[in-house]
Amino acid sequence: MTASFEALGLGPKLLAELASLGYEEPTPIQEAAIPPLVAGRDLLGQAATGTGKTAAFALPILERIGGEPALPHKPRALVLVPTRELAVQVAEAFHRYGRGVGISIVPIYGGQEFHRQIIALRRGVHVVIATPGRALDHLRRETLDFSELRCVALDEADEMLDMGFAEDIEVLLEATPETRQTALFSATLPPRIAAIAERNLRDPVRILIPRDKATKGSLPKVRQTAYVVPRAHKITALGRVLDIESPTLALVFCRTRLEVDELAERLVGRGFSVEALHGGMSQMDRDRVMRKARGQMVDLVVATDVAARGIDIDHLSHVVNFDVPSSPEAYIHRIGRTGRAGREGVAITFAEPREHRLLRNIEWATKQTIAISTVPTPLDVKARRLDLTKAAVREAIVAGDLDGFRVVVESLAAEFDPMEVAAAAVRLAHEATSGSATEEDTVEIPSPHTRPQHTGPQGRPQSRPQAGGWGGGGPGDWRGNDGPRSRQQPPHGRPPSLVRIYIAAGRNANLRPADLVGAIANEAGINARGIGAIEIGDRFSLVELPEQDAERVIDALRNATLKGRKVTVRLDDGRRRAR
Ligand code: AMP
Repeated sequence: MTASFEALGLGPKLLAELASLGYEEPTPIQEAAIPPLVAGRDLLGQAATGTGKTAAFALPILERIGGEPALPHKPRALVLVPTRELAVQVAEAFHRYGRGVGISIVPIYGGQEFHRQIIALRRGVHVVIATPGRALDHLRRETLDFSELRCVALDEADEMLDMGFAEDIEVLLEATPETRQTALFSATLPPRIAAIAERNLRDPVRILIPRDKATKGSLPKVRQTAYVVPRAHKITALGRVLDIESPTLALVFCRTRLEVDELAERLVGRGFSVEALHGGMSQMDRDRVMRKARGQMVDLVVATDVAARGIDIDHLSHVVNFDVPSSPEAYIHRIGRTGRAGREGVAITFAEPREHRLLRNIEWATKQTIAISTVPTPLDVKARRLDLTKAAVREAIVAGDLDGFRVVVESLAAEFDPMEVAAAAVRLAHEATSGSATEEDTVEIPSPHTRPQHTGPQGRPQSRPQAGGWGGGGPGDWRGNDGPRSRQQPPHGRPPSLVRIYIAAGRNANLRPADLVGAIANEAGINARGIGAIEIGDRFSLVELPEQDAERVIDALRNATLKGRKVTVRLDDGRRRAR
């Protein structure tokens, strides 16, 4: 059982703030990091974006320096981050958590006027959140003074090193008091980070992700898919995926109570029958939701981890992670809700581009691949809805008992072509069940695969998502970078360009992403890590591959069988596809 925030040593004001934000329990990194940080220990933490690491260092800093006066130019705490976007994001987090503590926070990053930053520092500051280059500039201009500094946090240290900030960080740390407390967070711990930790942390508490946790075998049979979608498009993407998947019952997980309520409301707006479930609800309300879920009276239950603990519903067909869970254990726990009693379950995860590492950690922990899929297009959704209408009309024909309607058709047929009459009737039936298209249905959702390549600040190409799994490297994270200008170099070494191949078999043939990955890897001898996005339609599939491998894969698949059948395989040239 997870500890509560109360057990971590945080004061009542912060606890009240967390409750009002709808946080129900600490994430694993918070549970491990907050108590030693509140106690003043140094810390070396391996944690990626999405694990809740910001709160893991922000809450102890707020706890330790809250209530102290804000001094001009002399912050009590310094947080170093690699990019301006992260500086803004971390500053927002400090504001959110520190509302009740009365704290002054100044983000400082390249690209913004010095003057504005200096005015903010002059007014008095508790916490400076800075990119290293700009912090150093202020230090040299003496508009920042570290003599009162008590806490330093290095966030995404590996990224800062990748961006060439190693020297700047060393100079900044040199200028801080020896008595300071230091926390270093990094998604990876290469030797250079270990060396920085060795030099700058005093007897740190180490929180590392164990690599070889054998969770294999404990997972039920579940088809696992992820969609990488920018935050702004997540709800639209979720709506489309649910339309395509048409779950019997889906359990949709969110991080906080507020998110549960908001998402449930939005999904009701999209025409689903939805119930919310979280720890802020009375037992009676929760029981009512569970009764409805068991009685198949809802399509979706949107829930927090805490509220969904112990839920056991046989006909739960889908588990949806609206956010990537904060740890592999939480993921395993969640997806274990489906795929019960020998049924095949489906686990769908929405990840923001920055959260790719979490997916990779989950793959490591589960020793299973999460296929990365492309969000269905409005056309896919339309086609799927038409399929459903067709199936409903077919059922009505088979069920018979149409005599009362035949006279209507006959009288209309005297005036119009019977085909027109039938089409109009189908249209009415379709619109009555599927509703008419909303604005959201037409939005184009940018996919990581179609985004233009861009290079990092040192000309290093940002790697692209490795679909069919994330093992070989992460996606470019699309933060505008704020790297040291003087260190710019010309780009070199582009990632391989991708092409799509068309395979004339899809969902109707029970084809799943794993089948394609398996066939390609085994038949063509291609490393599965190189396979890009996989899209499975009803009657066809599209697979992205490095250009140089495409021909070999096409040849191999043409000579192989997929689900026991020979199928047409060709380069996808955007020709009209048979749905
Ligand atoms: P981070 O890993 O710091 O980028 O945090 C990821 C997201 O999780 C942020 O949107 C936080 O607001 C949210 N978050 C952090 N801690 C918790 C928690 N204990 N419960 C629910 N949400 C959280």
